[in-house]
Amino acid sequence: MASGAGPEIERLMALLSKLPGLGPRSARRAALALLKRRDQLLIPLTHAMQDAADKVETCTVCGRLSTQNPCPTCADPMRDDAMICVVEEDSALWAMERVGAFTGQYHVLGGLLSALDGVRPEDLRLDGLIQRVKSGRVREIIMALPATVEGQTTAHYIADRLKSFGNQIAITHLARGVPVGGELDWLDDGTIAHAFKSRR
Ligand code: ZN
Repeated sequence: MASGAGPEIERLMALLSKLPGLGPRSARRAALALLKRRDQLLIPLTHAMQDAADKVETCTVCGRLSTQNPCPTCADPMRDDAMICVVEEDSALWAMERVGAFTGQYHVLGGLLSALDGVRPEDLRLDGLIQRVKSGRVREIIMALPATVEGQTTAHYIADRLKSFGNQIAITHLARGVPVGGELDWLDDGTIAHAFKSRR
């Protein structure tokens, strides 16, 4: 319902309300905060968003967001390309990089299989992962997917697709008992490092 704020402000609130965690009420508060802090918040945010829109793209190798393609991780010769850690979204990758517990490569699926939400294998970056395995250097696939039905369904599906590679590839999972994957960015660094070390 129109609030009488005017079309520009209405549009700002409508867009903000589409952000995760923001409903109409918090979008109104956010819009107000932005408009009240024009120089400190609104204008810098406008520039940051334009900059991100212009420069950030998806790495064609691993699927992560980066201003370079291939991204710095894929392009780094010091990283072990025999290990690929499979994550749902960039947020899980950022959490792992923050901890520095992993020195291999990543693969960002861009979602999880879900019958409920109609997410099919072709909607995810799965072919790219298979291609990377086919390149022959990969020895371990580490599933860092959430301990949810969707996360586990996706992990099983990937394991199934990789069956033909047989014993050449070990498929491991981060230690259970901690929420993993999408929730990784909630965890403290020690817990993430532990989940990595005790993967099975
Ligand atoms: Zn990459």
